[in-house]
Amino acid sequence: MAEPHEVQVLILGSGPAGLTAAIYAARAQLAPVVLEGMQPGGQLTITTEVENFPGFPEGIQGPELMDRMRAQAQRFGAILHFTQATQVDLSRRPFRVVTEDQGEFVARALIVATGASAKLLGLPAEKELMGYGVSACATCDGFFFKDKEVVVVGGGDTAMEEALFLTRYATKVTVIHRRDQLRASRIMQERAKAHPKISFLWNAVVADILGSRERGVEAVVVEDTVSGRRTTYPTQGVFLAIGHQPNTAVFSGQLALDQQGYILTQPGSTRTSVAGVFACGDVQDKVFRQAVTAAGSGCMAAMEAERFLAEEGG
Ligand code: NDP
Repeated sequence: MAEPHEVQVLILGSGPAGLTAAIYAARAQLAPVVLEGMQPGGQLTITTEVENFPGFPEGIQGPELMDRMRAQAQRFGAILHFTQATQVDLSRRPFRVVTEDQGEFVARALIVATGASAKLLGLPAEKELMGYGVSACATCDGFFFKDKEVVVVGGGDTAMEEALFLTRYATKVTVIHRRDQLRASRIMQERAKAHPKISFLWNAVVADILGSRERGVEAVVVEDTVSGRRTTYPTQGVFLAIGHQPNTAVFSGQLALDQQGYILTQPGSTRTSVAGVFACGDVQDKVFRQAVTAAGSGCMAAMEAERFLAEEGG
C-alpha cells in the first residue's frame, strides 16, 4: 500500500471557510493541503451574482469569487486536491484521513470546513434553474427580485425569516407549506402572518418549476396534498427554505455534534471536542451562513491551528 501523505495542516472543504483557512495557513508557512470535496468552491458556485461580499462594489459572480480565493491560496503554496474524505480517524494523532481516490493523508492538525448543503426538493428543474430564479438564500439573492412576485417553500423559522426579508423587495411573497401548520416559532409565525405582503398556500407541495435559464422562473406547479389537484401558480422566484444538512456524516462518533449534526465548537473559537481539530464555516454555523462569516471563521481556524502546532513545538 502507498505511504500516506504527511501534512501539517489538512483542510477539508473549499468554500470561503476552507480557502480562507488555506490562505492564512499557507502564509504562516504551514504548507496546507486542501481536499476540495464534492463541490469545489462550495455553495457560492451554485449562485450567480454576489453583491454583499466586501471589496466588490460592483458585485462578483459566485464562481469567480471562489476562483479568486483558490488562486490566492495557491499563490502562497496551498495544495488543492479534487477529492473528498471518505473516512477519518481522529482518535489519535496524527489524524488519518482516507480519500476517495488520492490515498491516505496523515495530518498534525485538521480544519473541517465541509459546509452544509441546502436541502432541495429533488426536482430536475430546480437544479437547472438554481441561480436563475431559484435560490436557497434570500439574503444572497433577494435583491434581484425587486418588484417581482416570489414564493418561499417551507414552514420553519428559515422560511419565515426568508419570507419577511423578501418583502423588502418583492411585491408579493407566497409561502408554500406542505402541512396546514407551521413549524416556525410562534413569534416568527405571527410576524409573517401579520405582514400584508405575505400570503400562504397550505397543504401544498411544489411539483415542478416552469421557466428557462433565459427567461427565469415563470411559475410553479403546486399540488394540493389533500385533493391531489395540480395548479399552475405564476411566480418569478422560488426560494427553498426546507432546511440545511451539515456535511458531517464522516465525523459521526468522532467529533461532538449537535442534534442536527452541526459540529460543536467552543464559544468564540473554532476548537472542537478533539484537540487539534478545528471547524469553521457552515458546518458549525446554522445562524449566519454567509460567505463573509465563513471566511472570518476560516481565518480563526487557521490561526488557532497555527497556535496549536506552535505550542507543541512544531
Ligand atoms: P426546519 O427543519 O425547522 O424546517 C424545515 C421546513 O421545511 C419544515 O416546515 C418542513 O416541513 C419543510 N420541509 C422539509 N422538507 C421538505 C420537503 N421535502 N418538501 C416540502 N417541505 C419540506 O429548518 P429551518 O431551516 O427552518 O430551521 C433550522 C433550525 O434553525 C431550527 O431549529 C430553527 O428554529 C433555527 N432557526 C432559527 C431562526 C431564528 O430564530 N430567527 C432563523 C432560522 C433558523 P414540516 O414542518 O412539515 O416538517
